[in-house]
Amino acid sequence: MTICYIGIGSNLGDRKKRIETAIRRMKMIAATKVGKVSRIIETPAQGGPAQGPFLNAVAEIRTDLTPYQLLQELQQIESLLGRIRTVRNGPRTIDLDILTFGEIRMDEPALTIPHPRILERAFVAVPLREIAPQALAMVRSKTRKRPAAVRRKKTVCRSSRPSKRCRRQA
Ligand code: ADP
Ligand code: MG
Repeated sequence: MTICYIGIGSNLGDRKKRIETAIRRMKMIAATKVGKVSRIIETPAQGGPAQGPFLNAVAEIRTDLTPYQLLQELQQIESLLGRIRTVRNGPRTIDLDILTFGEIRMDEPALTIPHPRILERAFVAVPLREIAPQALAMVRSKTRKRPAAVRRKKTVCRSSRPSKRCRRQA
């Protein structure tokens, strides 16, 4: 089973009840178990139209599903709880995001793991650190910028007597 962390957010209707229902529904996903759940925190909405504050939490799950199967299950729970996608970053009854999936990394529009905005969103990073400081540290280490020496563009070797650096690249 793979350990995953799921970000949960709600800023419409009975937010606390929706988060609790989402967790109850996650417990019903096949081949999946819900473990620790963080405290629920309240945070102002970021970006998008003017809207009410969010309640956010993070849950640990263990699953035998693939990342896409898990995404599909989470989207079904979102629909069940009345999620309608209107404007980007708009208000939502429930938002379920896969923050991490074991140590998997993938970068596709429909599924990016670790979730690209974990570090810039305190409302995700804070509850994730509460239940899984090691997962947050893993995300930090994997998204850390590569040292300048690695990022430096390859030197173009034009000279007939290339420098040591150019010979190394040849
Ligand atoms: P957001 O959560 O970014 O505010 P949405 O919940 O509307 O926005 O999700 C938009 C799309 O993001 C989804 O249809 C889904 O395919 C995609 N997506 C990409 N990576 C992830 C992820 N790690 N977890 C959940 N959805 C993701
Ligand atoms: Mg989402």
